[in-house]
Amino acid sequence: MPLGPGIVKQLADVYRKVRNTARYLLGNLHDFNPSTDAVPIAELPLLDRWMLQRTAALIDTVSKDFEDYEFYRFFQALQNFCVVDLSNVYLDIAKDRLYVSAVDSFRRRSCQTVLHLVVERLAGLIAPVLCHMAEDIWQNLPYSVAEASVFERGWPTVPEDWRTQVNTAYTFEAHTQIKDLLLVLRPMVNRLLDAGRRPVVASPNAATEHEPIGSSLEAQVQILLGAADGQLGTQTATNGAADGEAKAAHSVALGLALLETSPHPEVDNLADWLLVSALHIGGETPTETPTEVLAEATEAGLTVRISRAKGQKCERCWHYETDIGQFSAHPSLCGRCVAVLAQPSNRGSNNPDRSR
Ligand SMILES: [Zn+2]
Repeated sequence: MPLGPGIVKQLADVYRKVRNTARYLLGNLHDFNPSTDAVPIAELPLLDRWMLQRTAALIDTVSKDFEDYEFYRFFQALQNFCVVDLSNVYLDIAKDRLYVSAVDSFRRRSCQTVLHLVVERLAGLIAPVLCHMAEDIWQNLPYSVAEASVFERGWPTVPEDWRTQVNTAYTFEAHTQIKDLLLVLRPMVNRLLDAGRRPVVASPNAATEHEPIGSSLEAQVQILLGAADGQLGTQTATNGAADGEAKAAHSVALGLALLETSPHPEVDNLADWLLVSALHIGGETPTETPTEVLAEATEAGLTVRISRAKGQKCERCWHYETDIGQFSAHPSLCGRCVAVLAQPSNRGSNNPDRSR
């Protein structure tokens, strides 16, 4: 078995990543009681179902790795889960749900439901090799659990209703489409947002200067689906690269259609998933000329354009909105934040009525 300073450092990095992730999860559960606040699995938004399905896949993978004595694979899977699925995607999007939404709102409670399900299983999965950290997590769960120790809980298993195979509302196809929005489209938009943060854009014709954006919320995104939303249903699967690209664009188009049908548009909302202030979906050509394009790219059959968001920055949620200044009680806030502040549960008392 190879061992050296590099390997030890790599494992220490995984250890720190898992620890920081667990701390974040626990910290955001401080006011959550599963017995009164949890949202039933069947009622969770698509984004949350995606996260649970990823957690199910991690449990399956790690169970097999341990059975096969492939411990290095366990660390890889664990790191990938914490870095990509949780930190880069789910928790990045979750910030707005956890910090901006009303304390007792469905949008926040559904997110906390996922965080508590994930952190308990994360503790169980690391218990054989990171036993002290696992027990540390368990002893710091901010709500009561039946087992006094993580080692009384037993090996994590996947509840059947997390799986795509048994749920008609969240099928394997839906999972693939959500995955493509989060892991194909989102990184593409993030690369363009990075380009928008640079003052000069080199276009094929000439380099153009513009005032760079800072936060992604300063931007709006335009997505042109081109041929992807039309006739691609007739395409058959092949191994060609062009068809692979067309399939990605087709999957994104299907994912967008799926989001339209979600009963929870306040969570299943692509602008929020991309952390931008506005999103426009168009056909082959833009319906209106966008304000100055800061960055643009065509990849995988999709064209994505970044431009500066309209409106002003809300002091509370940092989104750029056009309704700021319309509310005399809070002249620097957007309508969404004004509505949140009007709820009594956000002034300290915990309102038990989650009427949603
Ligand atoms: Zn706001």
